Amino acid sequence: MEKKTIKEKLQTYIDAGLPILYIDTFEDDRAEKIIYDLAKKNGREVATWSLRGFQAKPGASPDKTGLVDRLNMFLADPTEATGKIFVLKDIASVLDTPDVSARLKFMAQQINEGFLEEFTIVIISPLMTIPHDIESYITIIDLDYLDDNAIQELIRAFAEEREIQVPSGDLMGKFSTALRGLSETDILTALSLAIADDGRLDATDLTEIREQKKQIIKKSGILEIIGVNETLDDIGGLENLKTWLKRKAELCADINKANEFGVATPKGVLIVGMPGCGKSLTAKAAAKVFDFPLLRMDMGRLMGKYVGESEGNMRRAIKLTEASSPCILWIDELEKAFAGIGSDSSGSEVTVRLFGSFLTWMQEKKSLAFVIATANKIEKLPPELLRKGRFDEIFYVEMPNEAERQKIFEIHIGKKHAEDLKKIDLKKIVKKTEGYCGADIESVVHESLEEAFLKDSKNHQHPLTTEILLETIENTHPISETMKGQIEKMRDTYKDLKFKSASK
Ligand code: ADP
Repeated sequence: MEKKTIKEKLQTYIDAGLPILYIDTFEDDRAEKIIYDLAKKNGREVATWSLRGFQAKPGASPDKTGLVDRLNMFLADPTEATGKIFVLKDIASVLDTPDVSARLKFMAQQINEGFLEEFTIVIISPLMTIPHDIESYITIIDLDYLDDNAIQELIRAFAEEREIQVPSGDLMGKFSTALRGLSETDILTALSLAIADDGRLDATDLTEIREQKKQIIKKSGILEIIGVNETLDDIGGLENLKTWLKRKAELCADINKANEFGVATPKGVLIVGMPGCGKSLTAKAAAKVFDFPLLRMDMGRLMGKYVGESEGNMRRAIKLTEASSPCILWIDELEKAFAGIGSDSSGSEVTVRLFGSFLTWMQEKKSLAFVIATANKIEKLPPELLRKGRFDEIFYVEMPNEAERQKIFEIHIGKKHAEDLKKIDLKKIVKKTEGYCGADIESVVHESLEEAFLKDSKNHQHPLTTEILLETIENTHPISETMKGQIEKMRDTYKDLKFKSASK
């Protein structure tokens, strides 16, 4: 089924006589414009209430009537309401006051029973907690992000208005891709900044625009665009996982053909296991293999200080991800989302609902937003998340074996002191580092380098040697030492659940 545009959705809801529509957006202007268009088409008038006061029609000067008084006036004289779309803005602080919510509820009932005819209330606001008593009268509508065509239209209008050259062909495509997922206001700000230096929109502005987008997305507080330098070559071991990722990346690179051939669009992967073993590193390197931007979702922040916020946050994060696709969505520390479960019933209800919507999205998504979820503890994850079919595959990452430890030492020494590598007896070192994770090995290398530097206090020319490395190892304690029993238990669980091993 073709996706309905917001205009079509609104039209259907208005036709159906739904009493209160809620447009979940920060973009007041764009939402209002859509409503004006619809009202015109339907022969309706638009009245607005905002902090500036009440406007009987667009352009009219606002009077200072408070919201409660205004609602009372409509209730007292229903003929005044007839034929109107009543737009409510800036109501974050008043929606859940009993004065307002009780009146809205009463009005919704009047509309449903036909006492208030041809009257629709439209709330424009980023989604917040909706008071329970009016929940069932409210229909929530997402304002979709602008598609490529709309973004290009905006760029064209922007350039023409300023009499500067409109970017053409390929460059226009790059501009619209870079601006995907931003609101109309944000796009215009980014474009204004881009022309501030030389009065032109050209390829040199793309870097600036991408940087801007990073900032804007970060400010939204839920997602972050991460710059990536890591490649699969930076990961020691995890060969099964690396091979698997390369295959999926290859499919994604030619997804239309793959789909035509009957191959499904990859959904994503869950990587679980001990901390410090390269899960995050893999997520970053994957972005390079797929050649997609990397969006990181911060579970802790997503859950929101206020319970009601999280659902809105999740919806926004999903929409932003969709708008930014193709991309990799990295959900870091997935288990954090479920931390509240079991202790407080209202928190867990939200989490379950939240993940309901996330799972539905995972199940249904057709877009190239490849999800990489990472988790340290699976006992905190709900079983439905681990069921086959949610993710394309679930991998577990173990403490690196001998061959893997050797690779990891080679990688980290190679980055800083490649010239010393051939003289170091890695076999010996690897034997002494049983139970060390990748992060432990990295810190052994760093500390040993520090030692080597200080050993030759004059010239700082001392090489990194086997002896220095062994000495550092003598003095370190890997985290796994204190977690032996736990690690064994985890290994058994992964086997029981038939997760795939990331290592060969
Ligand atoms: P996790 O996400 O599993 O907790 P990270 O990927 O954040 O672990 O690992 C922390 C750091 O340890 C990495 O940035 C990397 O420098 C090093 N490291 C961990 N595992 C590996 C590995 N398999 N190969 C190379 N370096 C590793």
